[in-house]
Amino acid sequence: MLEFLRLSAERRIETVSIWGDEITKVGDADALAALRDYGLKVSGYNRIGPFVPECLSRAEAELERAARFGADHVFLFTGGFLEGERDLAAARQRAEVHIGSLLNMARQVGVKLALEPLHPMLAGDRALITSLTHANDLCDVLGHGIGVVVDVYHLWWDERLEVEVMRAGRAGRLLGFHVNDWLIPTRHLLADRGMMGDGVIDLPAIERMMRRAGFRGPVEVEIFSTDWWARDPAEVMDIALARCQRLFSEEPA
Ligand code: ZN
Repeated sequence: MLEFLRLSAERRIETVSIWGDEITKVGDADALAALRDYGLKVSGYNRIGPFVPECLSRAEAELERAARFGADHVFLFTGGFLEGERDLAAARQRAEVHIGSLLNMARQVGVKLALEPLHPMLAGDRALITSLTHANDLCDVLGHGIGVVVDVYHLWWDERLEVEVMRAGRAGRLLGFHVNDWLIPTRHLLADRGMMGDGVIDLPAIERMMRRAGFRGPVEVEIFSTDWWARDPAEVMDIALARCQRLFSEEPA
């Protein structure tokens, strides 16, 4: 994590998202000091979930840590079915009730929650919220303190994407924008994301959509990929920044 922060600062990146388990490896104090010394802002804190029964008892500490790190929002990771579950509608309802409880806690701590719909192929094992429509519907019900993150990898295929991005924008709940690319073929659902420009997503069009919807936050590069993880991190960052500059109207932050 400390190397990631250093490399980010050297490239004049202003905002990063952080992972709780990576912070634990270096310790809260060192991670906080590095963020402060480099002058980096924190966008998203990863994450609360999966929504197993003991999740709620751990959530408050995670929310408080996210607040200490000045995170703009905390990602919710619902996970998929619990052992033996087969009723998807019931599982989604279970997740919605859980999110309601987390939102009460988050409001008290003073951090926002972020729903990031994941690709429907992950519905069984990782994500009970798999469309921006569902995420928006849920935010409408729950009220303030919760918003959505648009990740092109998970949502590029959705014929309702523009309608729902605009809807989220009107409600003032667009919290984040994650970029990468969809490779053809995709060999692994979790660890074969592409570098922006290497796949089939119309990235400039989705970025324009986000800006039209009023999103003013940073473009966040998020590439889970065994290929890119195997390369030199500094080189990967330089390539990602160059691609962002080519594809997007505003500089990535
Ligand atoms: Zn994402």
